[in-house]
Amino acid sequence: MTNNIVINKEFIVNSLKEMAKLSEEQRDYWTSLDSDIGDGDHGINLSIGFRGISKELDNLSNNTTDINSLLKKAGMILLSKVGGASGPLYGSFFMKMGAKYPDEEEISYSDFLVMIMDGIKAVQSRGKAEVGDKTMIDAFIPGYEVLENYQVGDDPYKNFAQFIIEMKEGSDSTIPLIAKKGRAMRLGERAIGHRDPGSESSWMLMNVFYKELLKRRDENE
Ligand code: ADP
Ligand code: MG
Repeated sequence: MTNNIVINKEFIVNSLKEMAKLSEEQRDYWTSLDSDIGDGDHGINLSIGFRGISKELDNLSNNTTDINSLLKKAGMILLSKVGGASGPLYGSFFMKMGAKYPDEEEISYSDFLVMIMDGIKAVQSRGKAEVGDKTMIDAFIPGYEVLENYQVGDDPYKNFAQFIIEMKEGSDSTIPLIAKKGRAMRLGERAIGHRDPGSESSWMLMNVFYKELLKRRDENE
């Protein structure tokens, strides 16, 4: 049954591990995007942050029974280890994700979507960026709207695939923009023609959740 997805601690641990792998793989690419319109450290920042999470992950998952504590700790590591703007932003994302579900060891797909939406809201309330400011919000908000419209009975895999497509297109939409938030602001019109690095890393990180969902589907088939 495709709709009976259960999100548990193992799912979150695997996702965080895969995000750490992704951050190593994409480190130079994300950094190069940031070299174009920022200070060239976005990939370095995320790899430092997720290395910190990886190092603590076994410890965290052995000592934590619920999803919320795990996500909260991962968020705190990002917040404390990463110097750039993206550390506190992604840190808030993970710290806020599980807040509505304290003590839960398993949640449903719908609850998982609420978690992601709460994470996105946290990024927006910390960074105060709007769509069109040329930040990760340009990717997150179009994705948010897909999650918001999910109804029980809809195909979760299609829903999450659409979430990723909208985020990706949101990232593409940053290319022609002038930045109104973050370091790229200083460049004015010179930012035009360049993709915002955080909009790229954000859809790629969310795509890790998608791949983990697909693994579960394939295991259940
Ligand atoms: P820094 O800009 O401090 O060097 P990073 O390079 O790690 O930090 O991250 C830059 C990314 O952070 C940008 O590409 C953008 O997506 C995101 N960002 C910066 N400021 C904001 C903000 N106020 N709201 C949302 N995202 C932001
Ligand atoms: Mg930077």
